[in-house]
Amino acid sequence: MKNGDQTILEMRNVSVNFPVKGGLPFIKKGVIQAVSDVSLTIKRGETFGIVGESGCGKTTLANAMIGMVKPTSGEVYFNGENLYQLRRDAFKKIRRDMQMIFQDPFSSLNPRFNVYQIISEPMFIRGQDDEETMVQRVIELLELVGLSKDDLTRYPSDFSGGQRQRLGIARSIILNPDFLVCDEPVSALDVSVHAQILNLLTKIQKQMKLSYVFISHNLAVVKNVCDSMIVMYLGKVMESGNSETVFKNPLHPYTHALLEAVLDTSIKEDREQVILKGDIPSPINPPKGCRFWQRCPRAMEGCKTIPPENIEVESDHFVACHDVNGFPEGNFEEGYKKPLKSFDDDLSEHGKAHQ
Ligand code: SF4
Repeated sequence: MKNGDQTILEMRNVSVNFPVKGGLPFIKKGVIQAVSDVSLTIKRGETFGIVGESGCGKTTLANAMIGMVKPTSGEVYFNGENLYQLRRDAFKKIRRDMQMIFQDPFSSLNPRFNVYQIISEPMFIRGQDDEETMVQRVIELLELVGLSKDDLTRYPSDFSGGQRQRLGIARSIILNPDFLVCDEPVSALDVSVHAQILNLLTKIQKQMKLSYVFISHNLAVVKNVCDSMIVMYLGKVMESGNSETVFKNPLHPYTHALLEAVLDTSIKEDREQVILKGDIPSPINPPKGCRFWQRCPRAMEGCKTIPPENIEVESDHFVACHDVNGFPEGNFEEGYKKPLKSFDDDLSEHGKAHQ
């Protein structure tokens, strides 16, 4: 442990926007709100899951955690340091402690580098070690990830998908990080090797006392590996808390919909069936109320304009939904609690408004 604090990473009200440029220079067409007002705490040694459909802001959020995307507003603290306020040399030093495993082991490895060059590259860039030390360290890591020193001079094309992901894992831990972001680490692999890679990650986590952020759209995987989790939709956190609690008592309609989409019958229980209609809407000018209202079967009139707050409903379990928490106090238009009469009609009207 680097300090006595149990928190390794904290985000406070983090938003990340990207401008959408028009055809002419200096003309801004709009703003993509990739992440909106996200606050979270990750404990040292835990595995923290981020779940949601493609385009919900999972990867942007993780990039903001490790200094790869500067938030438009909000703060990120790593080991107690305000990451985006650090001077350049201090930032470079702290960045060593935060690494990432990428989703696609086919495109994330340079095909012209051999195994030794791929794994030792982060050490080589730092330039702090002699060749002999680097070779020894690479051999150690190859053995740790289930490969051997005979693989040192082979190239990525000589390996299967699972083996390439092992190389990616070895590369990500060569600088002895504290914090590892695993961005969909098994989704590009054959189902038959999922368990091997997940077991390997668990073994490394124990051995190196790492904290993980685990990004996935697969709730079955998250249930098996994560201690805490957040469910994201269109850049916002819908439900969060201790994974066991969230899986035992999911409350947000979007979490129900994700659970419904899981093929693994062991996590399907006798609960509300929510089948999602349509695609995730554009993050450019998203709805000002609940971002999920266009697809929510429980939506009420007020959900279109009143944003739900993220409220603790039981110990370490937070939900952002008016149907669960009730609407806040306020002078809202009459009929704000009325269920949307014809959900499909309302949806198509909203669609027309955006055409
Ligand atoms: Fe559905 Fe309203 Fe809850 Fe959003 S706030 S999830 S629209 S019920």
